Amino acid sequence: MKEITVIGGGLAGLVSSILLQRKGYNVSLYEKKQYPFHRVCGEYISDEVKPFLQRNGLFPDSYNPSEIQKFEFTSVKGRSFELPLDLGGFGISRYVLDNFLSQIALKEGVNVVTKTSILDVNFHADRFNISTANEQFESELVIGAYGKKSVLDKKLERHFTQKRAPYIGVKYHIKTDYPKDKVALHNFPSGYCGISAIEDDKYNLCYLGSRDALRKYGSIEAMEAAEVKRNPFLKNIFDNAEFLFEKPEVINEFSFAPKTAVEDHILMTGDSAGLITPLCGNGMAMAIHSAKILVDCIEKHYKKGELKREALEQAYEAAWNGTFKKRLRVGRRTQSLFGSAITSEIAVTLMKNSSFLAYQIMKNTHGQPF
Ligand SMILES: Cc1cc2nc3c(=O)[nH]c(=O)nc-3n(C[C@H](O)[C@H](O)[C@H](O)COP(=O)(O)OP(=O)(O)OC[C@H]3O[C@@H](n4cnc5c(N)ncnc54)[C@H](O)[C@@H]3O)c2cc1C
Repeated sequence: MKEITVIGGGLAGLVSSILLQRKGYNVSLYEKKQYPFHRVCGEYISDEVKPFLQRNGLFPDSYNPSEIQKFEFTSVKGRSFELPLDLGGFGISRYVLDNFLSQIALKEGVNVVTKTSILDVNFHADRFNISTANEQFESELVIGAYGKKSVLDKKLERHFTQKRAPYIGVKYHIKTDYPKDKVALHNFPSGYCGISAIEDDKYNLCYLGSRDALRKYGSIEAMEAAEVKRNPFLKNIFDNAEFLFEKPEVINEFSFAPKTAVEDHILMTGDSAGLITPLCGNGMAMAIHSAKILVDCIEKHYKKGELKREALEQAYEAAWNGTFKKRLRVGRRTQSLFGSAITSEIAVTLMKNSSFLAYQIMKNTHGQPF
């Protein structure tokens, strides 16, 4: 019988495991891959999480993350709009950041089990029965931190799994000549592509595209030639940069549909609880913040040997909704302004005429430092 089992070792899973272990709980973290590894992500992190990470010794200073203070947005035709970022952010690869946090988790005594997928979780008689390919065990609490997409969502019959999941994500690391203090979002007809500096003079180039466009063109390369490079900024980057991966990291078929923070008594955190559209650039900050909120709730309602499950679930759901629900809604609405030739032109025109709209979007999709 384990005390707390965390499924998934991305930012939400690693941060919640470290904090809970420090508070005296026994935590087992299951991650299906082995650190370090690349994953699809824009790797720009809003500074809203910086004070929290620094306070808890979780900020990766020694890897020299880039410091980002400006935002640029371009339409498919290449019209551009730039503004300073209120809070700013930093850039670091997930390859480095997640590995750095996994080392801290190990040092703190978290039972980190890698290369192991959780295949099934069932709640029965006030405890969870959990299966991997090789073992079955019980756990008092389960945290779902398994990201935007997992077989577990289908097993749990989460309602959004019945809807079509139309998005794909593609990521590269590149070397190029580009300002280090700027994160840019360049639109193309069926999506948008971000570029920003990470550590070691490298840049992240990551786009959100559509499954339909990929089907239409048959391959990533053909889709990039026909769609992504329609934006002159992207054409310049794709034609002239040095690409550091042999092939891109790709994730298929995920959606931004609303989710619930508690599902069959599993406490969901990070993308498993709700995925914000990447154009808002703060899914990672939300994953870290939601882990902190969850840990605060657990500490309040789970003293050694005494778990007030119902009160914990209610408190967490209320705290999660209060902090993130509106942000996700604004993110979904804003998404409809982007990734199309016509709407991206309108968006640039609107923002050029009044930066108020851009500031409002930023204000309503980002949190405050905590
Ligand atoms: C195209 C794109 C660009 C983005 N760009 C940015 C950006 O620039 N800035 C930003 O802040 N956010 C960005 N995001 C969002 C950000 O990547 C996520 O919000 C963030 O990674 C969520 O962290 P997480 O810990 O919830 O999930 P993840 O980081 O996805 O971690 C989940 C982990 O669970 C593991 N796992 C899954 N199933 C199982 C299982 N059954 N058993 C064991 N392990 C399992 C996975 O291997 C994975 O390691 C972007 C997203 C996309 C799609």
